[in-house]
Amino acid sequence: MNVVMKFGGTSVADADAMNRVVGIVRRQLDGSLDDKPPVVVVSAMSKVTDRLIETERLTGIGDADRAAQMLADLLERHIAVARSLVDGEALVRLTAQLTGEFAAQTASMRGFAARGDVPPRGHDALVALGELASSRIMAAAFAAQRVPSVWVDARAVLVTDAEHTAATPDMDATCARTRELLGARVAAGEVPVVGGFIGATASGVTTTLGRGGSDYSAAIFGACLGVDEIQIWTDVDGMLTADPRVVGRPKLVPQLSFAEASELAYFGAKVLHPSTILPAVAKNIPVRILNSRRPMVTGTIITADGRGDGATLTALACKRGVTVVDITSTRMLMAHGFLRRVFEVFERFKTAVDVVTTSEVSVSVTVDNPRRLDDVVSNLRNFADVACEPDMAIVCAVGENLRADPTLFTRAVAALDRIPLRLVSQAASRRNITFVLRDADVPEAMNRLHGAFFS
Ligand code: ADP
Ligand code: ASP
Ligand code: MG
Repeated sequence: MNVVMKFGGTSVADADAMNRVVGIVRRQLDGSLDDKPPVVVVSAMSKVTDRLIETERLTGIGDADRAAQMLADLLERHIAVARSLVDGEALVRLTAQLTGEFAAQTASMRGFAARGDVPPRGHDALVALGELASSRIMAAAFAAQRVPSVWVDARAVLVTDAEHTAATPDMDATCARTRELLGARVAAGEVPVVGGFIGATASGVTTTLGRGGSDYSAAIFGACLGVDEIQIWTDVDGMLTADPRVVGRPKLVPQLSFAEASELAYFGAKVLHPSTILPAVAKNIPVRILNSRRPMVTGTIITADGRGDGATLTALACKRGVTVVDITSTRMLMAHGFLRRVFEVFERFKTAVDVVTTSEVSVSVTVDNPRRLDDVVSNLRNFADVACEPDMAIVCAVGENLRADPTLFTRAVAALDRIPLRLVSQAASRRNITFVLRDADVPEAMNRLHGAFFS
C-alpha cells in the first residue's frame, strides 16, 4: 500500500517521539516490501509554532532582544534533539543549517522590530522555521537509523497564492512538483521527508496554509501522488465522539464519511484540519487517523460512504468564542436584494460566516474570526440595525443517521433542556444539527448531549 504519513507536533515533540516515528515508518516499509516507501510529512515540534508567534508579538512591540532570546532558546531545543538522534558529520551539517536559518530570521525580526510591525510575509517566513527545522531533524534521524530517506524543501513543492497566513494551493503546479520532487524519490526507494503547513508562491516567497495546516499538506501530496491512504498520526486514538478536553470519556469513532469528517473538522474537531478532506474527496482516497503512541490501535478510517453501524449520532464538535451578529431591518428584509447586500459586506471584508438563521425582519449569523468585524458592522449599519454578541459558541451534532431518524433532532433538543439556545439550525444535507449558545454553557451542553447519545 502506498501512503502519505503525517506526524503532528506531539508526534515529533522530542527525540523519543521522533524515534517512535522512525519505528512506525520502518514497520510500514517492512510490511509492504513490494510497495513504494511512504512520503513523511511532519509538523513543527510541539508548541514551536506558538512560540514563534509569541516571538512575532514581541517583535511587533519593538522588543527585539526578548524576541532574539526566544529564538535562541528554540534553536537550542532543536539542536538538543538533533544531538540525541544524529552524530558525526551529519550532526555538524544539521546544526549549521538550523543555526543559519534561525540567524536569518533573528536578523529579519530585528529589522521588523525597528519599524514596529511584522508584515504577513514576515510572519510566514518566521513560522515556517518550525516545520523546516523539524523536517530536517526527522530526515537526519531516519538516515542515522539507516532508513533510506531524503529531506525535501516543502517550499519547492507546495505552490500557493500570495494570501499570506492562509494561502490556497495551486493544485496543478503543486501536483507537477510533487510528482517530480517527491514521486521520483519514492520511485527510487527513498522516504521523502517534508515539512507540512508551509509552501511558497510561484516566485518563491514563503507562505503558510493556516494553523493546523500540516494535515492539509499531507492530503495535497497524497492526492497528487494518488496514494492508497493518507495517514494522520496524532496524540489520540482517532476521531472521538467529542473533544476530549471538553467531555470526560469520549469514545473512538471507527468509521466516518468524508462529509461527516468535514463537518466535524469545520466545527472544531481539531484532530483534523478542515481542508484536509477536500483533496482526499477529489481523488477518493481514504484518510486514517492514528495514534503515534499506540500504533497498534486501528484508529478512524474516513471514506466516501464510511457508514458506522450505530443507529445514532456519529460525533459532536464545538467551536468556541464565536460572535453572533444580528442584522435587523424592518423596512428591507423581505425586499429582494437584502440578503445579497448583507453577504456582500461579509465578502468584501473576507469574513466567513458559519451559521445563518433568518426571521421575518432579521438575519443572524455567527463569525469566528472577528479581525475585520468592526468594518463589517459599520458597513452593515448603512442599511440595517446591527447588534453583536461575543462569547458565544457553536455546538454541532453530526451523523448521517440524522437523515433517516427524525427523532434524533428531538432527543438532542430535549437533552439541552433549560440551556438557553440562541440559534438552532439543521443544514439542508440534514447531516448535522447546530446549536448556538453561550460559550460558558458549552461544557454542560456537550456533556449532556454526549450522555444522551454515546453512553
Ligand atoms: P497534531 O499536533 O497531531 O496535529 P492536534 O492538536 O492538531 O494534533 O489535534 C489533536 C487534538 O485534537 C487532540 O489531542 C484533541 O485534544 C483534539 N480534539 C478535538 N476534538 C477532537 C475529536 N472529536 N476527536 C479527537 N481529538 C479531538
Ligand atoms: N505547526 C503548525 C501549527 O501549529 C501546523 C500544524 O501543526 O499542522 O499550526
Ligand atoms: Mg493538527
